[in-house]
Amino acid sequence: MNRKNIPLLLTLCLVFSGQSHDTSSAEDPYATGVSNTQRKTWRAEDDRQLETLVPELQARAQWIQEQLWDMGYPVRIASAKRTAEQQREGFREGYSKTLRSKHLCGKAVDFKLHPHIFPDSDAAFWDAKDKLAKIQGLLVLNAPSFKDRPHVELDQDCDWDAALLGPEGTWKNDTHTLTIRRDRTTRTYKGSLVTPDATLTLTSLRVRHTHSGPRNKIEDAFIDVTFKHDKKHKNQNISKTYKSSTIIAKTHHYQRASWTSLLDTRAAHTFKRVTK
Ligand SMILES: [Zn+2]
Repeated sequence: MNRKNIPLLLTLCLVFSGQSHDTSSAEDPYATGVSNTQRKTWRAEDDRQLETLVPELQARAQWIQEQLWDMGYPVRIASAKRTAEQQREGFREGYSKTLRSKHLCGKAVDFKLHPHIFPDSDAAFWDAKDKLAKIQGLLVLNAPSFKDRPHVELDQDCDWDAALLGPEGTWKNDTHTLTIRRDRTTRTYKGSLVTPDATLTLTSLRVRHTHSGPRNKIEDAFIDVTFKHDKKHKNQNISKTYKSSTIIAKTHHYQRASWTSLLDTRAAHTFKRVTK
């Protein structure tokens, strides 16, 4: 070895021994140890949950869990992929501050301690978990304004339209049907508004999200749409703005755009979502 590399090697050794000292869990009451039998049982049980995630998160979550087992933490998977209805329920009850959760597309996972323990947010266990997540290039939610310590997510977005949190679907009222689809390749929206006496074709669509209140507690979403009338109506252009319905959480009172209904702001028509 080149002599010049020795100081570097020494530094690395010091950093490494410093790290292993930090993560030493001898005095951590949550580090109760994990037996080989537990490892085997929990691996099989938790893998069933992890299988709902996208593959690149699945493998990283397993690695984090096993590193934490080595440190003596009996860590389990608390939540992996969720359905839109499960997420809505969690939001309504106040467990989650968002409807746009990466759990919806299998890009987020929550950890806990066996059997169902969530230590206080300043527990060393969460710091150890965050450190491992960062090594894997994952994001954690530990900002002072938004602490969600069990949570870990991939640094890539979901297709929110596909998760029913965007302007894609069919909305109806007694007389009108509004259909909007998005072409995944060209990323353009197509659609129509069918009324009793005409069919209008969607020519452009723009989504606007507005946030207000302390810590952006209130989210509203709008779509600005232009339609082209049929020939009978001389292909005339029509502009409309629809406002998405919102849900308010019981406990922390956050308000989020839900897209379960749309309000035509000028005509005051409300459309209820019927299908995806
Ligand atoms: Zn989560």
